[in-house]
Amino acid sequence: MTKNTFKEIKIDERGFYGEFGGAYVPEMLHRNVEELQKCYLDILNDAEFQKEFRDLLKNYVGRATPLYHAKRLSEKYNTRIFLKREDLCHTGAHKVNNTIGQILLAKRLGKKRIIAETGAGQHGVATATVCALMGMECLVYMGEVDIARQAPNVARMKMLGTKVVPALSGSRTLKDATNEAIRDWLSNPEDTHYIIGSVVGPHPYPDLVARLQSVISEEMLEQMPIQTGQKLPDVVMACVGGGSNAAGAFYHFINEPSVRLIAAEAAGLGVNSGETAATITLGKSGILHGSKSFLIQTDDGQIVEPYSISAGLDYPGVGPLHAHLAATGRADYLPVTDDEAMKSVIELSRLEGIIPALESAHAFALLEKCTFKPDDVVAICLSGRGDKDLQTYMKHLEI
Ligand SMILES: *Cc1c(COP(=O)(O)O)cnc(C)c1O
Repeated sequence: MTKNTFKEIKIDERGFYGEFGGAYVPEMLHRNVEELQKCYLDILNDAEFQKEFRDLLKNYVGRATPLYHAKRLSEKYNTRIFLKREDLCHTGAHKVNNTIGQILLAKRLGKKRIIAETGAGQHGVATATVCALMGMECLVYMGEVDIARQAPNVARMKMLGTKVVPALSGSRTLKDATNEAIRDWLSNPEDTHYIIGSVVGPHPYPDLVARLQSVISEEMLEQMPIQTGQKLPDVVMACVGGGSNAAGAFYHFINEPSVRLIAAEAAGLGVNSGETAATITLGKSGILHGSKSFLIQTDDGQIVEPYSISAGLDYPGVGPLHAHLAATGRADYLPVTDDEAMKSVIELSRLEGIIPALESAHAFALLEKCTFKPDDVVAICLSGRGDKDLQTYMKHLEI
């Protein structure tokens, strides 16, 4: 964000990455969204903001997160594998990088009340955390199904003083929670800031969240020479729900053509099973939650209810940056099934002593699907830890 080492990812003044993005919002939200569009870059680039943001990332979140050489995993796949340890962030995932930035932004906009949507509950927890930190009122919308399968995170949010509101429509997962959050914002446009949890939503959110998460690849740039002896990785891999950890991990490498960018999207029971969240593999261009991107939809444009075992990847859309990177061929997006992800959970647990989040495990399943040279440096974004998924793991493994 503040370093001069990267070339900015280009969006046009209306927030489009190529043909994807924009700000498709109801009349009632124009003022809020325009306010954000006008001021977000000035605030992000403000020296006081940067000082506060960097201080909290260091002393509250615990950054920089390590770039860890996973030797046993490397041996198994006959290449050099490095894990970017976002699982070690306070609250257990990368999500807090964004919520710290957005709460500081909300304060500067004079907002008093924070709303958010959450799937796995990680963004809800990250939002509840920064609201407690700043003494702000917080309300989190969460699908009823997700509330049931992510009980520990629901308890965490409540501990932190946040109100968790169940979304009861549709598949009662992330998409529906997002609809409810947008509805709330429509009714409370003056005093409320909506902290979106990924690189989705109307412009400027995709760019705002990508910039806040770009700290991931910014640190990697510094860590690469020390840890790997080379300036750039050969491959960067991440999982994609809305796409924020992947955007953060890719950010400073997007304009470096020698770096292969590969992302995993959740295929659920299989791309052709009808029970999937493989947005880019199956998706067609359409508009959801304020921006144009790839969506899984029927021939007449109805959104298909997504499915993944992983609540954080269970979303029918994907951030417009990723639609653009896929459409232009800059990054590859490969589907990974529930079973393949579960296999990677066990593999990482047993080979490295790290229990990953179910979302992150999708990225590790790419190791089976891609080929690497023995001297390649393969950096994988380990987006979160698996504590929240233990119930699912125990059920699956019958322990
Ligand atoms: C939320 C979450 C994801 C998916 O969200 P992105 O915006 O695609 O990063 C991935 N991993 C973890 C651990 C999460 O909590």
